[in-house]
Amino acid sequence: MRIVLVEDNDEDREAIRTILEQRRESVFAFHCGDSAWEFVQKTPDIDVVIVSLNLEDASGLEICWNCRILAAERKAMYVVAISEYTNADMLVEALDSGADDFLHKPLQEDILLARLRVAERVIMLQKQLVQLANRDPMTNLYNRRAFFEKAHALIEKQGDAHPVSAIMFDIDHFKSVNDRFGHDVGDQVIKTVTKIALGESDFIGRLGGEEFAVLIQGQSFFAAACAANRIREMIEHTTIIAEGNKVQITSSFGVARLQEGDDIYALLKRADRALYRSKNNGRNMVTIDRSQAAKRSDISSCCAAQ
Ligand code: GH3
Ligand code: MG
Ligand code: MG
Repeated sequence: MRIVLVEDNDEDREAIRTILEQRRESVFAFHCGDSAWEFVQKTPDIDVVIVSLNLEDASGLEICWNCRILAAERKAMYVVAISEYTNADMLVEALDSGADDFLHKPLQEDILLARLRVAERVIMLQKQLVQLANRDPMTNLYNRRAFFEKAHALIEKQGDAHPVSAIMFDIDHFKSVNDRFGHDVGDQVIKTVTKIALGESDFIGRLGGEEFAVLIQGQSFFAAACAANRIREMIEHTTIIAEGNKVQITSSFGVARLQEGDDIYALLKRADRALYRSKNNGRNMVTIDRSQAAKRSDISSCCAAQ
């Protein structure tokens, strides 16, 4: 596990670090609450935070509380408060402030390790829950809710510091794939399309049965339109072999760029409208959002099917 240890008593900190490292845990040790919290915030995949409630800057309870808030944002994390005081008030306050466990100092090695085994079990369950809540089980892409939530958070966080574009696409006449070859073959087609799209971005949501959204960050609108067209071409030129059948499909795309004042819902709505036009104009094509018309001539050079 990846464990953050916050303890300003040098002797205690080194003793705990030694126990943990002997168990081959990755330990990030801090003597002050502020730098530990800064680290936890910006470092993904911290499993456990062990924090002393006797820090000189009295930030122990605050860290428990802040970690609980982070964990509520679907980041699995287990918080163990440690203290040299043994009174019940301290224990109650720690647990009420978001700690999952409370241990008295000096820590006994066997007890600490047993508690960490509990932490490991809980973290595993939390991670499974996060996975179930956020991912579509068939493709492992973000589900609709998680895609919107994560895209919304990203846009809020970065403001307009970097360009953001959205690609929406939908497999053409997919119902007839199911009708001709069966549902299992249809599933194989969806998985193949997923793999192709992951070649362009790992920020992808499966918004519905055969409908996907891709977020492209830090690249120009032109680059996003080209990415959409590469996915389109790759899908068109891939023969999917499933249950002895050779299946050819195409898909239709809409691309829009985040504009001032947009949120993710507005962005996706414009991409969806562009996708709708691709469908109406004959399918197997990339259409860019109409409000981007000024740049249309540049972009048409990469959207050959348009
Ligand atoms: P269009 O070109 O207009 O998009 O036509 P379409 O046939 O692709 O669209 P339509 O919305 O009529 O049909 C989508 C089909 O996708 C209907 C539904 O049964 C199927 N579908 C949805 N989810 C899944 C899935 O997980 N697996 C399989 N095999 N089929 C699915
Ligand atoms: Mg479709
Ligand atoms: Mg559809």
